[in-house]
Amino acid sequence: MKRKIILLITLLLLSYGYSNAQYGPVVSFTYDDGSDTWPALFNVFQEYGFPAVVYINALNWWVNGAGYNAVNTLLEMKAAGWEVSNHTYNHDLGVTETNVSQMKSWLDSHEFPNSGFASPNNDWSHSRVNIVKKYSSYYSRATELPGMSQPFDLYHIERINLTNRDNITTIRTMLDSAVANNKWIIFIAHEFGGTYRTPDDTWYQSDSLLRLVLNAVVERGIPVKSVREVINDFFPPDCVIECSKDSMQFPVLPYFEQPENQAEPPVFNTSVWNEYWHNTTWTDPHLIGSPVVYYNTSNDSLQVMKFHRYVLNGQYDVTATILLKNPGGTYRLYYSFDSTNTAQYNVVVNKNSDVSLGPVTVTNGQFALYTQNADVVSGGAGDVGWAFIKLFAKPLLVNIKVFLEGPYNGSGTMTTTLNTQGLIPKYQPFKKAPWNYLGTEARATFPANVVDWVLIELRSDSTTIVSKRAGLLLSDGSVVDVDGSGPVKFKGISNGNYYVVVRHRNHLAIMTSSAIALSSSSPLYDFTIAQSQAYGTDPLVALPGGGFGMIAGDGNNSTIITASDVTPIITNLNNFAYLDADVNMSAIVTAADVTKIISNLNKSTNVP
Ligand SMILES: [Zn+2]
Repeated sequence: MKRKIILLITLLLLSYGYSNAQYGPVVSFTYDDGSDTWPALFNVFQEYGFPAVVYINALNWWVNGAGYNAVNTLLEMKAAGWEVSNHTYNHDLGVTETNVSQMKSWLDSHEFPNSGFASPNNDWSHSRVNIVKKYSSYYSRATELPGMSQPFDLYHIERINLTNRDNITTIRTMLDSAVANNKWIIFIAHEFGGTYRTPDDTWYQSDSLLRLVLNAVVERGIPVKSVREVINDFFPPDCVIECSKDSMQFPVLPYFEQPENQAEPPVFNTSVWNEYWHNTTWTDPHLIGSPVVYYNTSNDSLQVMKFHRYVLNGQYDVTATILLKNPGGTYRLYYSFDSTNTAQYNVVVNKNSDVSLGPVTVTNGQFALYTQNADVVSGGAGDVGWAFIKLFAKPLLVNIKVFLEGPYNGSGTMTTTLNTQGLIPKYQPFKKAPWNYLGTEARATFPANVVDWVLIELRSDSTTIVSKRAGLLLSDGSVVDVDGSGPVKFKGISNGNYYVVVRHRNHLAIMTSSAIALSSSSPLYDFTIAQSQAYGTDPLVALPGGGFGMIAGDGNNSTIITASDVTPIITNLNNFAYLDADVNMSAIVTAADVTKIISNLNKSTNVP
């Protein structure tokens, strides 16, 4: 080994640990081809408030030949958060480039951009992957039960059939496993209908089967997302470097090990390389489809490789998917983020996994990763591959403190009665009007100090909405991300000055009095210390014992507190439930809720 002792000591100090990627738990539902049963299917998902995915063919009889405008239904689906994606133009089983590109144009021209791809007839091969890469952001195929789509890469996402021959008992077990192991399950079917427990029915998904599964998902509080949204969570757009595709320095190429039967001297060929990798029997895990470059650890004369991508300046966390031919061995991989000391960092790997390469700050518009040889730590020489390198822009944080008048119990805390009574919904409650927020935020259980959901909105000026996200209000007034880990995260939003709006189901919305600086390390903004912290005239209510809070009483969500807010209280009097009419959030609607309304009568929100 050419590495020096002194370098090793430095590297040991700098080495990063594993960071196992968390893909879930999350569930997606997808439907192939096109069918006049889909409007009914859409209605069921609307009842539950969940999105799904459709993979369509423009020439399919439903899209072009149905007795009504199917495109309008697709647009309604899109408006409800559904993903409309590519299944080739005419269901071409050979997946020709013409077919994929034609359909991509159709989708783009009908306002369905950023489409993914699901292959007809489960077709999948490297040449087809290479075609799809040009037009679609991912490639998925179908498999039979049992299956899980984790681990996955962008070009080999597995969906599993869920049709009337399947038994809900099996599905419940799968969902339990998904929760226990943070997995992503994608269910596939074609048409909506038929009868649950019909043997051999691998095509239809009946109303009763779908509801059984959706109920099981709801019981477990598993988020339901489109495929695109899950991918965006884990493969940020424009921030994935595929190692064999992007910016490798040529001199290293001849050093790649060649497939068997290749002539000497070695000549690099992407498709051959892919084929070679995929044809191996390295099946742990199935990262089939990842373009990969790798080192053979018995060869210490490899040159430095540089991967780069043009990105926005900012702070990123970097992870890499590492593949080992010998998962029983342990290897040390060297890397750096600049060219001056290309073995500045190292990471030790002993299994196929995602590893954290640490944080990096990009200042010149280009992220670069330099990789060097891999050394054997134990287990003998072996092949070590870099598959994907992923940059995760550090999310913008909204770090605020706010009190709700309704549950405020003096001395700086709010009651958590809705939580202790088990009434807080597992899915964010702002999907309905007037908020119409489609976010997929969900939690199976709530920490004891959670008061309720709140909706956070970012505005670039006092009226222009940039982004929204649901968060959890804690009893001490802090607002945390749905993952419970800290301030509310906004992905894909650049650092800058924003107005922050806080909305609650039955309190008047508030906004910061001016645009405040937000970044990945935003300081606390405390709405509770003065009226002037919020926008407008008397936007807050003075709380008993000092401090200020959001004004309680808007049980009918009209942005103004009037006698009309008493009506839902009368309608729901003595009801024990999660009700907007319960403005003091005591878990039961009583005359005390009317008292709040009277004390705040005619007040309205100051949020423009
Ligand atoms: Zn199909």
